[in-house]
Amino acid sequence: MGILIDITSRKNLENKLRRRATTDFLTGASTRRHYINLVSREISRSLRSGSPLCLIIMDVDHFKLVNDTYGHAAGDNVLKHLCDLCRSQLRVSDSLGRIGGEEFGILLVDCPLKKALQVAERLKELIADSVLLYSGEPISCTASFGVAQLNPSTDNLELLMKRADAALYEAKGKGRNLVWADWDLGGASLG
Ligand code: GH3
Ligand code: MG
Ligand code: MG
Repeated sequence: MGILIDITSRKNLENKLRRRATTDFLTGASTRRHYINLVSREISRSLRSGSPLCLIIMDVDHFKLVNDTYGHAAGDNVLKHLCDLCRSQLRVSDSLGRIGGEEFGILLVDCPLKKALQVAERLKELIADSVLLYSGEPISCTASFGVAQLNPSTDNLELLMKRADAALYEAKGKGRNLVWADWDLGGASLG
């Protein structure tokens, strides 16, 4: 004799709660904490397997001006729109995380720097060309990108993020709406 209990609804609820804890409500990107864990896991995997791993950090240009001009709710919609655009270009194995207010990480697994630069360039163009209609107002913006490939001989999570961030800083300083790369590959292939 046994008792059969249907736990489908409990499992569904658990999944829903887990998704809620790891997903940013506004943009659908991973939350910062979840994203950092994810990047950390992929770094270990890449170091074990030798497959190239790239991190792109994207920051919306002059986003404060978007809020000031069109309002905070419009700004929220722009962030959501930009994340939808990014997701439309990424593979299922890639991941998008919200690491700050209007700053996002894009992790590209099994992807060498050359390819990651192409992805960032494509996203940059797509964003610059896109117009969001919000309450009848056309809103457009640009974003800047810093790209770094994991250097297997020196990098850890902190260093990889620091290098991508420094490249983003260069892109901002050089005028924005730009992709900038950190070329320290530590002997890994450019691809
Ligand atoms: P830069 O090109 O140097 O990045 O300039 P910026 O204006 O984008 O950068 P700054 O750091 O000065 O401003 C970021 C703005 O992003 C300020 C903040 O209010 C806004 N922001 C952060 N999170 C959100 C959000 O969830 N929704 C909206 N609407 N705005 C947000
Ligand atoms: Mg910004
Ligand atoms: Mg920022």
